Amino acid sequence: MRQSTIGAGRAGAALAALALSACTTTVVEAPAAPPPPAPAPASAETAMVPTVPMGQQWLYGSAEGAIAVRQTYGGLTAYALAKAKARPADSVIIDEATGKPFACGNKPLAAVFDADETLIWNIGPMRWFALTGKEFDAKTWDQWEKTGTGKAVAMPGAVEAMQALRAAGITPIANTNRSSANAAGSEQTLAAAGLGTFKHGDTLFLMGDDATGSSKDQRRATIAARWCVIAMAGDQLGDFRNGFNKPELPPLQRRALAMAAPYDKLWGQGWFLFANPVYGPSIRGGYDDIFPPETHWQPNQGAE
Ligand SMILES: [Mg+2]
Repeated sequence: MRQSTIGAGRAGAALAALALSACTTTVVEAPAAPPPPAPAPASAETAMVPTVPMGQQWLYGSAEGAIAVRQTYGGLTAYALAKAKARPADSVIIDEATGKPFACGNKPLAAVFDADETLIWNIGPMRWFALTGKEFDAKTWDQWEKTGTGKAVAMPGAVEAMQALRAAGITPIANTNRSSANAAGSEQTLAAAGLGTFKHGDTLFLMGDDATGSSKDQRRATIAARWCVIAMAGDQLGDFRNGFNKPELPPLQRRALAMAAPYDKLWGQGWFLFANPVYGPSIRGGYDDIFPPETHWQPNQGAE
């Protein structure tokens, strides 16, 4: 399925050239036009170039993907600016110890964002993974965190949203599972994308900042102790509550968990999810997981 049409095309041209040369050897009398130059032989590398994955085509290339992102940024900004005018009593961060939101008190206002596929599109390594047929490679990603400055692009509407939030007195904060060992690279990457200043330990929180690994709950609690968080955004359920992050659950059960009360009221009203059809635990499931039996249908074979 991921075999390249480019490679197939070259192979076809090579076969056609062979067939042509076989024919011309039998014609000895009439001078014939010289055969077209033989195409360069397809190297093993070009013959195996995979096609661009559908999720990347949609997210990184399509108008629909860009518009969906910008709509979400527009909704988030409008929501946050309205909330800032009438200070809310509650943060949108849940205290996992009590199951209730953290209190805002008189803390300064903030909005919390995941970084990857929320503030920035990581087009550089995603292209590389696709070209080399890998879904992910930790060593390559580590290099990207260190050296990707200038190559990661701000997602559509992100720069305008950061500007509008800051102008309204709402501080953007990033809470990402990029490594704390690569803090300088991530600070520079976000700034170079035009998103402004995110400072490690102040407005940038990274994996390794505490002892809880990839769970962002403790970092969220740290942020909520200092800030009144009025909006939160991410592309994975773990960007909102680690309790949603259950890749072992069948997809429909995982979906029901994240959409059940009391969290159902937060989606689009404090919590904002960006579509990511490229990677993450959302992308899985067999036929039995995705298609309930009552929806099964098939055409009448032979009817055209
Ligand atoms: Mg992300």
